[in-house]
Amino acid sequence: MLTRQLATLPRFESIEEERLHRKQRLAGAFRLFARYGFDEGVAGHITARDPEHTDHFWVNPLGVHFGQIQVSDLLLVNADGKVVEGHLPVNQAAFAIHSSVHQARPDVISAAHAHSMFGKSWSAFGEPLEPITQDACAFYGDHAVFDDYTGIVLEVEEGQRIAAALGDHKAVILRNHGLLTAGQSVDEAAWWFIAMERACQSQLLVRAAGKPILVEHDQALKTASQVGSSLAGWFSFQPLWDKITAEEPDLYG
Ligand SMILES: [Zn+2]
Repeated sequence: MLTRQLATLPRFESIEEERLHRKQRLAGAFRLFARYGFDEGVAGHITARDPEHTDHFWVNPLGVHFGQIQVSDLLLVNADGKVVEGHLPVNQAAFAIHSSVHQARPDVISAAHAHSMFGKSWSAFGEPLEPITQDACAFYGDHAVFDDYTGIVLEVEEGQRIAAALGDHKAVILRNHGLLTAGQSVDEAAWWFIAMERACQSQLLVRAAGKPILVEHDQALKTASQVGSSLAGWFSFQPLWDKITAEEPDLYG
């Protein structure tokens, strides 16, 4: 039987323990992204800041399916984009985007980006999500739109502009591209990505169907404070973690 105290963040005895925890959560997040169908060829990356070398991050290797990633596959990339642990190559776009986000936001432990179907479809409108549901309110007043698509992000300078657009929010919609989410844990960043993808699906359904009644501004802000907190994001991930580790324990390999 599963037992969990409500909203108890993990504590660590050592840097090594914290590093392993982040890497395991990262592998679990990739397996979940595969389950949700967020893969698109070799696109997409989730990163976790190293707890010791805080200008380094852990990331998936280029060309390995999300659904087959194990802890031992993860790469450690330094501030210059060099792989310092691991043998496979890193996605250049992953470095350009994520290094900029991690540098601009010291509070961000993890960032997630993928070319998921509904996120990239909604991104083509170049508009923020509307407060159409309680769930969508998690992003109310807390996401931005990067309205400047210029091809695959390969330069750090463009990554810096994406980081600037993200500002102090939890997410940014990259127009004609997809979603990027950030959090104080891998759990949180991964959950916001899953939740935002579903909010985009809901938004597209509503837009196609007609004119919705929006949650009023004050109520949307109140709801955002309830369902959109860092702790709420972390907690929402925990049942998914339990399920994926029970069903795919090889992710620990
Ligand atoms: Zn991309």
